[in-house]
Order: sequence, then C-alpha cells, then structure tokens
Amino acid sequence: MTSPTFMRLTPRLQRSLQSLLSQEPAAQLIRSTARQQWRLIVLNLGSSLVEAFTEGATLAVVFLAVQVLSAPAGTPFNWASNPILSRLPAAANWLNGLPATGVFASLLALAVLLQALQSLTRFLILVSVGCFAARCRALVTALIHSQVLSFSFPCASGYKVGDLTDYAGQGPEAIRLQIEMGSQLLVGVLLIATYLSVLVGISPWLLLAVLVMGGLITMLQKQLLPRIRAGSEAVSQAQVAISSRITEDFQGLRLLHSSGQLDGADQHLRSRMGELERQLRGQVRRLAVVGPFSSFLPILAIAVIAGLSLLLLGGRSTGVLPSLVTFVLALQRLNVRLSGVASNVNQLADNSGRLARLNQLLSPAGKQFRRQGGIPFRQLQLQIRFEGVGLRYAPELLPSLSDISFTMPKGQMLALVGPSGAGKSSIADLLTGLYAPTAGEIWIDDTPLEQLELSSWQQRLGVVSQDTFLFNATIAENIAFGTPGAKLAQIQAACQAAQAAGFIESLPQSYDTLVGERGYRLSGGQRQRLSLARAILRDPELLILDEATSALDSQSERLVQEAIERFEHNHTVLVIAHRLSTIVRADQILVLEAGRVVQRGSHSSLLAEGGLYQQLWQQQSQTTHQAHA
Ligand code: ADP
Repeated sequence: MTSPTFMRLTPRLQRSLQSLLSQEPAAQLIRSTARQQWRLIVLNLGSSLVEAFTEGATLAVVFLAVQVLSAPAGTPFNWASNPILSRLPAAANWLNGLPATGVFASLLALAVLLQALQSLTRFLILVSVGCFAARCRALVTALIHSQVLSFSFPCASGYKVGDLTDYAGQGPEAIRLQIEMGSQLLVGVLLIATYLSVLVGISPWLLLAVLVMGGLITMLQKQLLPRIRAGSEAVSQAQVAISSRITEDFQGLRLLHSSGQLDGADQHLRSRMGELERQLRGQVRRLAVVGPFSSFLPILAIAVIAGLSLLLLGGRSTGVLPSLVTFVLALQRLNVRLSGVASNVNQLADNSGRLARLNQLLSPAGKQFRRQGGIPFRQLQLQIRFEGVGLRYAPELLPSLSDISFTMPKGQMLALVGPSGAGKSSIADLLTGLYAPTAGEIWIDDTPLEQLELSSWQQRLGVVSQDTFLFNATIAENIAFGTPGAKLAQIQAACQAAQAAGFIESLPQSYDTLVGERGYRLSGGQRQRLSLARAILRDPELLILDEATSALDSQSERLVQEAIERFEHNHTVLVIAHRLSTIVRADQILVLEAGRVVQRGSHSSLLAEGGLYQQLWQQQSQTTHQAHA
C-alpha cells in the first residue's frame, strides 16, 4: 500500500535533501560543477519533466482505451465531452470522425510513441547524469589529491596512508552515488507528483479512502510487529535458559544425588517448561495472524476500492471502468515509485557516512597547510645557521630539540652523531622544512628559513635517507625525479658518481628497467645508490645524508663513501651517521644527546676531549674489531 512506505520516508528524505543542499565542500563542489555544466543539468531536468509528462499521458491513453473497449459495440462517441479530450477540441473532432477500431488503433500508436519517448528520456537522463557524475568524480579526485598535498608535512603525516588512499577511492564514489541518487530522486518525486495528480483528478475521495486504509494497515503492523519481535526474543531467552539448566542438571548429577535435590531440580524444570509453553502458544497465535492478514489485505483493499468506486464514480458519463482501471494502475505505479524513492533515500542516507568523511578531509577546519609564497631561494652564499633552535613535535610532548645553535659554512661538511633518539633526524627535518622550529631561528644566509619560498628551497636540496622511495617507473625516470629535463648522459654521469652505473648497466633493460612496487626488485644498497644518484644529479646546494650508507655491504659502502667524498669537495653536506668511520673527515661534528648539543669539534679534537664521542667511537671500534675477528 502507498502510505506505509510514505510514512517511513519523510525524516530520511529531509536529511538527504539537507545533504544535497548543505554548505559542506562536497555539496559545494557538486553545485559549482552544476553551474559550469548547466547544459547537462538542463538536459537532465528537461528529460525528467518529459518522463513525468509521458507517464501522465500514458495513463490518459489507458483511460481512453478502456473507455473504447468497455463501451457496447456501435455506441457513438462524443469525444468532446470526454474529461481528457474536452481540453483538446481539435483531437476530439478528429476522433469523432473515426470508427471505434480506428480510435483504438490511434490510441495504441500513441501509447507506443509515448513509450518510445519515455525510453529516449530515460536514455538522456542516464547519459546526462553519468556525464555530470564523471566530471564531478574527476574534479573531486583532483581536489582530494591537491588537498592532501597542500597539507603541511606534520598534518599530512598525521593521517594513515591507508586512510588517505581510502579517501581517494571512496570520495569520488560517494559523489557519484550522491548525484545518481539525487537524479533518481528527482525523477521519482516528479512521477509521484504525476500519479498523485492523476489519482486526485480521478477522485480525491477515493484517494483519501486509500490513504486512510493505508494508515490503518500501518497502525496494525506497528501494533503487531513489535509484539512478534518481543515474543520471539522471550521464547529464545527461555529456550537458552532451559537448555543450560538441563546441561547443568546432567553435569551436576553427582551433587543432585548427594544433596537430595533430584526432585527439586525436576520440579524447577517442569515449571520453566510450563512458562516456555505459554510463551510459545502466544507466539504461534501472533505469527498465525500474519500470513492470512497479509494475503487478505490486498483483497480487502481491492474490494473497498471497487465498492467505493461504484459509489463515487458511478455517475460519470465515461462509466466506472476507465476511471477504476486508471486509478488502480496509477496507484500501483505510485506504490512502486514510493518504494524506489524510499530505496534512493536509504542509499543517500547510507552514503552520508562516506560523504561526511570526504567533507571532513576537504574542509579546512583542523588542518595545517603548507606555507605558500615567500622569498624565492636561488643560491647559498655564505652559510646556514641554527640560532637557539628548539622543536616540540606536539605541545603535549617534551621538546625533541632544545637550544641548538651551530653554523654550517658553505662548502663544508657537518656531521651529526649521537645515540638513537638524540634528535639527529629532527635537525634534518627542520632543514628540509618538513617541520618548523618551535623556538629559535634557522638562517639561510641573511634570511630566516620561514621567510623563504618553501618549494624553491626544497628544490635545491638533495636528501638521501634510509628509506628510498622509488616510483613505478624506469630507473632513468626515478633518478631524474626532481630534475626535469635531465639528459640521459647527465643521468649516467650521476650514476657513475654514485657507484650505481655498474649494476644498472647489468640489468636487462639498463636505464629503462622498470622499478618500484610493480617493477624490478632492487636491494637496499642498490636503492640507496639510486637515491644518491638522484641527489647528485640535482647538484644541490645542500646535500643531506641520513644514515645514507647504512644499507650497504662494506665494499659498496667504501665505493659510496668515495663517491660522497668526491661530491663533498665543493658542496655543503650534512651527514647523519651511526658509523663514525664515515665522518672522520667532517669539518665539524655535533654530538647530540637528548635533543641537545653536548660536544662539538673535529674528530681528533673530540676524541682527545673524551666524553660521549669517545665512548661511541670506542664502542664502534670494538664492534668492528669483533666483526673482523
Ligand atoms: P635520531 O635521528 O637521533 O634517532 P630523532 O630526531 O628521530 O632522533 O628523534 C628525536 C626525538 O623526537 C625522539 O624522542 C623521537 O621519538 C621524537 N620524534 C621524532 N619524530 C617525531 C614525530 N614525527 N612525532 C613525535 N615525536 C617524534
């Protein structure tokens, strides 16, 4: 029936409409795309209206056809007095001149034409909504991508990679569903309006009677269904209690025997069984009502409608049958549409979770964004200077770096050493601009780093870290990443310098070998040499080597070390090293402990000074010694 579905619909419908009209980023994106793609929207709206119109016209044709078929043979028609054709005198005159079979054939042709038109409108609706959704999907994917890339590094790294890829996959899907469901909802609502106007046109009283009947049925269902649910819960609880009691009794036979409780246990079970039986009987009665009730209701409804129609439509010149058939047909189609709209609304409601996640990602609230603009960086003139720099990763955490001050003259090599967690990588992260100091200042010549245009500074850095990320691309493309327009000869030279040329040339497709997740698997040492080649190719102003030789065997380490040494001559280099042997020649060594500089100087002066550096050096000499022994 119509009204039960309708009553379940309204609160969710309201929520769905709100989600379509809200100020959230996803809804705004759909609306602004709709403004750009207005032709598609006009096509969609126009086609939806035409579909509703053809549906109404089809019902009118059904009405006329039934009138022709139900009239006794030979009855002359005056079509001008027909309730539908009285508004179309030209058509009425034309039909007056035709025999009944001719009228029927014309109506049949018209019905076919209307259905063809409806098929066309459905095609146009699908195409327009599909094209619009495709456009929005493309836009939202690009928006998600640029939104994530515009986050500051700390903000972006606060998300799990899986969550971000999930956003990128689910977001466009949520938008597609929203648009398609929105369009289906529109068509559904227009059709419902058409059916309602046909039903009201035939007889508002009959419609009212149907609605009242629907309301009564809903009320009955509301009475019955919760009772059935509660009854079945009570029965299953009682069954569980009884079966566990039986198990207990059988397991505890020894106790029941020895304590003389056998009769008591039997009595207890009998009384429980009596209770269960009562509940089962009640439930059987309630369930027995449902089947006959559901099969009887449609018959009752049809009987009521037919009976009422005799009463309400009996006096019509067209007779009862055309109105009754059209009424029942429209009612049945209305019911189908209401179910369709209800399912659209449910899908929109289901989609609202995904949409909320998308909105949460796209909205600027609670996000930090990458710094834009600033003074473009060109070249390091004199030095990089840390002045009382401190870093707290979060206000509630202890500082990871405190009062760090040092100067790194251009062309020199500065090494950071210290136990794990001392803050070495944090200094590198500050220099690369991934994090901003929470105290003090980093100076690049005479400009604070925070005033430089971040991307222009980062483009002039070469970073080789422990984990080298390789894209799914060729070796040459991976090395040239960040150096657009690099020639193959330059790439080869960089690989030569990074001691990578040898292994690359031995690969089946040499520099064209595909690497990355879906390509050739490189060893840790090979990846690191690629990363070094990538950095060398950029000819950076500052090279940051973070445990760069950690993944190498001792022979490749020596080769890479030589490469780095050659590169270091005329470059500024920051090295983070666990193996102190690699930084013996550094111009300056900072020894860090718990986020503070505890010693500084050259290798020889630090060794002579004693303290943490000497301890670390001795520990490592011993380990190397043992390894060689
Ligand atoms: P090192 O490179 O010397 O091993 P790090 O610079 O990686 O040390 O870490 C210094 C301290 O900062 C450590 O206590 C570490 O737990 C903390 N830390 C590093 N990165 C983060 C981060 N992203 N968020 C919170 N704490 C961090």
